[in-house]
Amino acid sequence: MSYDVGDFGGTAMARNLDDGDVVHVFWLSGMSCDGCSVAMLGAISPRLEELTLRLIPRVPRVVMHHSMLDEDAGADFMAPFRAAADGTLGAPYVVVVEGSIPDDQALSGPGHYAAMGTGSDWPSSKGGMQHGDQPVKATDWMWALAPGAQACIAIGTCATWGGIPAAAGNITGSMGLTDYLGSDYRSARGIPVVNVPGCAPVGDNFMETLKELLLHFEGHVELPEFDDIGRPAWMFGETVHRHCMKAGYYEEGVFAHEPGDNECLVEIGCWGPVVQCNITERGGINHLGGCMIAGGACIGCTMPGFPDKYSPFYKAPPGSAVSGTTSRITGGAIRRLRRVSMASGNREPMWENAGEVPSAWGRANLVTPHPVAKVNAFFYKKLQYAGSPNHAKRNKKQPLPMSRDILRQKGVDLEASVPVLQEHLVSREEL
Ligand code: SF4
Ligand code: SF4
Repeated sequence: MSYDVGDFGGTAMARNLDDGDVVHVFWLSGMSCDGCSVAMLGAISPRLEELTLRLIPRVPRVVMHHSMLDEDAGADFMAPFRAAADGTLGAPYVVVVEGSIPDDQALSGPGHYAAMGTGSDWPSSKGGMQHGDQPVKATDWMWALAPGAQACIAIGTCATWGGIPAAAGNITGSMGLTDYLGSDYRSARGIPVVNVPGCAPVGDNFMETLKELLLHFEGHVELPEFDDIGRPAWMFGETVHRHCMKAGYYEEGVFAHEPGDNECLVEIGCWGPVVQCNITERGGINHLGGCMIAGGACIGCTMPGFPDKYSPFYKAPPGSAVSGTTSRITGGAIRRLRRVSMASGNREPMWENAGEVPSAWGRANLVTPHPVAKVNAFFYKKLQYAGSPNHAKRNKKQPLPMSRDILRQKGVDLEASVPVLQEHLVSREEL
């Protein structure tokens, strides 16, 4: 299911930005390890520089306010935040939240878990220094900036669903941005919280979402599709398993014994069959890396409830006992049949007519096919050519070329090399 702004009664269509407009991005951090910032900086599709330098046609220029990237520091760095909260920024803005949202408002007194700026940076200080010179809670910035934002994007599993800081036993009361702002939250354009999960997230997932939203603000595209918990639907609609490069092993019932093995990792704790994440298509960065490519099982890091709902890590999920056993039985039979077809597929028709494989590499395999393989091939070809010319039969009538096997015809003896080759032959089974 997808949603558009009208579903939320928003004011989105009130004004499209003009060409040449600037959109400020205020990056707020809660209980964060900065991994999302690193993911965002590594993204290439698009790169941050392409947005800040306005290199993409029709996408407005982004002014990024990030505590680790900004040239300004102290009060100069905080001034735009304050202006946005005051309503005096004079330009549209987006709020990005990285890290879990601690339950700071529940703390009595001036304590905090995450903060940015001091009391003098906070708009309410105009009315009497509400916080004095104490740090301003990051959560105060969030509720103050969220209503006026064009959109609020939670990046990473901590900001989306609470993540590791919200695991059972935490003392911070951490939660996701959606939980913090509540189900009534709509941005100034009527857009609920947008969630781009992952621990750390695929940076391109975030940057592409931001770019699509910017294009939407400019009136060039409709609001992109989001699923019922605010994830970009085109990124999180599929499971890891459906696009996993090891899915063929799963289908044939062949499973890894330890991380790094080539085979399917489900029996050593992969939750890919039920986890929504696109890292198998997109890679960790620039279509490179990613969990399964590195030999690692999926531990569900994009999912609500991670990590507790997917622990203990590296233990086979209960559901895999049923699906794994089924695939071992059916996949095992299918795999063996495929091996027979593969053996036949690795033979030229000419080789079959001549009764030998003219490859020194294949001398160890110069055996006539097993009777079972012959029967299998007979019925396979029947089905394959049903209703069409039977090339298998026609190939049998094809004469062998006169100059085939020319060295043997000329009496050139190269047998001396055969023992050396035999030592280096590797059969498919050995591989
Ligand atoms: S490694 Fe995981 S995602 Fe990949 S095929 Fe196996 S179960 Fe599916
Ligand atoms: S494959 Fe699993 S562990 Fe890896 S990024 Fe996706 S959800 Fe996280």
